Amino acid sequence: MHGALSGPLAIRVRGQVQGVGFRPFVWQLATRFGLRGEVLNDPEGVLIHVTGDALPAFLDALPKEAPPLARIDAIESAAHVFATEPVAFTIAPSRGVGAETRVTPDAATCPACAAEIRDPTQRRFGYAFTNCTHCGPRLSILSGLPYDRARTAMADFVMCPDCAREYADPADRRFHAQPIACPACGPRLWLEQDGRERLGDPVAHAATLLRDGAILAVKGLGGVHLACDATNPEAIATLRARKRRPTKPFALMAPLATIRAHAEVRPEEEALLSDPAAPVVLLTKAGTPLPDGLAPGQPTLGWMLPYTPLHHLLLDAVDRPLVMTSGNLSGEPQVIANDETRAKLSAFADAFLLHDRDILRRLDDGVERWTPHGPMTLRRGRGRVPTTQPLPPGFESAPPVTAYGGHLKSAICLTKNGQALLSHHLGDLDDALTFEEFLKADADYAALFDHRPHAVACDLHPDARASLHARSRGLPVIEVQHHHAHLAACLGENLWPRRGGPVAGIVLDGLGLGPDGTVWGGELLVGDYADVTRAAHLAPAPLPGGDAAQREPWRNAVMRLDQAGLSDLADRLFPDRPRDLLRRAARAGVNAPLSSSAGRLFDAVAALVGFGDAAQSFEGEAAMRVEALALTAPDAEPYPFAQDGPVIDPVPLIQAIAADLAAGTPPGHIAARFQSGLAQAFCRRARIEVEQGRARAVALTGGCFQNATLLDLCLRELDGLPVLIHRRVPANDGGLALGQALVGAARLAESA
Ligand code: ZN
Ligand code: ZN
Ligand code: FE
Repeated sequence: MHGALSGPLAIRVRGQVQGVGFRPFVWQLATRFGLRGEVLNDPEGVLIHVTGDALPAFLDALPKEAPPLARIDAIESAAHVFATEPVAFTIAPSRGVGAETRVTPDAATCPACAAEIRDPTQRRFGYAFTNCTHCGPRLSILSGLPYDRARTAMADFVMCPDCAREYADPADRRFHAQPIACPACGPRLWLEQDGRERLGDPVAHAATLLRDGAILAVKGLGGVHLACDATNPEAIATLRARKRRPTKPFALMAPLATIRAHAEVRPEEEALLSDPAAPVVLLTKAGTPLPDGLAPGQPTLGWMLPYTPLHHLLLDAVDRPLVMTSGNLSGEPQVIANDETRAKLSAFADAFLLHDRDILRRLDDGVERWTPHGPMTLRRGRGRVPTTQPLPPGFESAPPVTAYGGHLKSAICLTKNGQALLSHHLGDLDDALTFEEFLKADADYAALFDHRPHAVACDLHPDARASLHARSRGLPVIEVQHHHAHLAACLGENLWPRRGGPVAGIVLDGLGLGPDGTVWGGELLVGDYADVTRAAHLAPAPLPGGDAAQREPWRNAVMRLDQAGLSDLADRLFPDRPRDLLRRAARAGVNAPLSSSAGRLFDAVAALVGFGDAAQSFEGEAAMRVEALALTAPDAEPYPFAQDGPVIDPVPLIQAIAADLAAGTPPGHIAARFQSGLAQAFCRRARIEVEQGRARAVALTGGCFQNATLLDLCLRELDGLPVLIHRRVPANDGGLALGQALVGAARLAESA
């Protein structure tokens, strides 16, 4: 098809093509094919003016051989007339003002750099800040736009002549690599212990300390980790005690061969681990067991590969897997500055592995997993931002909107020119410092994206911090119901057209305020971006104690048992708990809001099958326990729910659990029957909506769909119907802002 295009061409390349080595790649390619012309960056991407006999071959190779960090969205060719006939191929200066410069995400050390730091003949042998055009820090060291060295944390490091030569040479892997550095001119690493810097090799010292069971603060790419030997139960226990983090799983870091010794790594999972984003990937435990304290009771461990040269050097030296958990005070954001690290982490860490390249943006590690239905994003983190995604058809000319997301897993979303930018995970806004970060991220992303919203979207909860912030902007505010936003996020990720017709959304979630003043969370919503109706929902139960009902699963169990006429069983199962106080509060409706939350039903079941009357030490712990237990009994027969008008009532389910408990049925079996019963109850209702023509597809969304088994059960129940699921956008509240933005944009479009 390019055959006819033999004359001089203007080739436009759109996508993630700036700051990823695209111009030198084009230069090398054109030179290889003996072509003449020029390549340059402009506001729309990369522009190539080119002529020569081998144009078709050049056009063929362009998308196929693009650099690793490039993402090509489109290549458009048109005839071109040169003012003066070019005699060679050159890289021309960037053109155009107001360039919407795309900044690429931070990228894991590439194989070439990883090999270089292990090669004693190279000048970067053992150098912890080695990088090139295909890898290294980007967003985390950016201070402003356009992206060049003067506006990064590298500004104060003056390039040595060797680095300057590489930087200026289009044939070099480091051509225009802004963070280029070497031992002669770049950042420096050191190890601090007892307030003093230790002489000698900091990596060797760090490795010795780690092998001896010490806990180290290690400054990384988007923040500081706390590290310890993942094979040492005492070190793990010490870290848990110091961090006051009794059970929440720790992330681990190791090279692939080491991970394989402790986990099942399928090819798709290997690809996910090796992605330049280097997320934490949840992998099923296998092979040599590691201490249970890493992730008590969990069938999986979260693994990541070393993603900076420092990590590679440290892992080589220590020669065992490391715990790499966020360095922060409980609930607070991860620390990034050296002073902050010393001040806040001295109670946790025995020594500090620090350096003098500043981290300018705090970016947590992302968490992802692979399911039989594709990737699943649990936490959008470092390496995935600031990537944009296209908006669905019908939103091309929607006015720009900023959406402020949820509360516990907050994130911001900006839409503009048919694209959405969903921020990284910002954390729990109840924490004052996290809220400060949230405000900073709001200003920051707006500047990065050159974004001036016409309206803001937020949750309809009037007191949520994000909503209060939205209202303070002085712009039109669009309030979006929490579960409608979840549905819209799922539709948007799947590019469901704005006028694509109604969809049945199964939203199984934690808590979100409904328009009727009760708390929703187990919903079948039918509708589109602009509007939904509540077609069905779980029968509500009181949340006695409000927030306490979220932390303590047994409270939900007592309420559901009482509803099922099984108060005596509640008394027997939770004898030491203030049940009557709870019941009085529930009857009086005092601090006991009604909720249809599926998440709280998971909690109730967890309390019945072994979580007992314990409190959760992190959000989702009880539900994760149910998911883990259920793995022991695949294909268990579903428990029944009663379908009464719009109400999906779990009373028969609770009664069946009671009978199974009395019969001594194993907890895993009960957990599995619960999950498949829940899937069946909602999917049957959703199927009716589709079969009776009220919906064109089914969407699965909400925090409960982080549960891969529940997702799988629903997809099996919905066999034969078009089903939309989450892959790159979190099904949990981390994806909420995208949905809010789409609902906002749809309503603006409809009222226009
Ligand atoms: Zn590299
Ligand atoms: Zn240098
Ligand atoms: Fe939610």
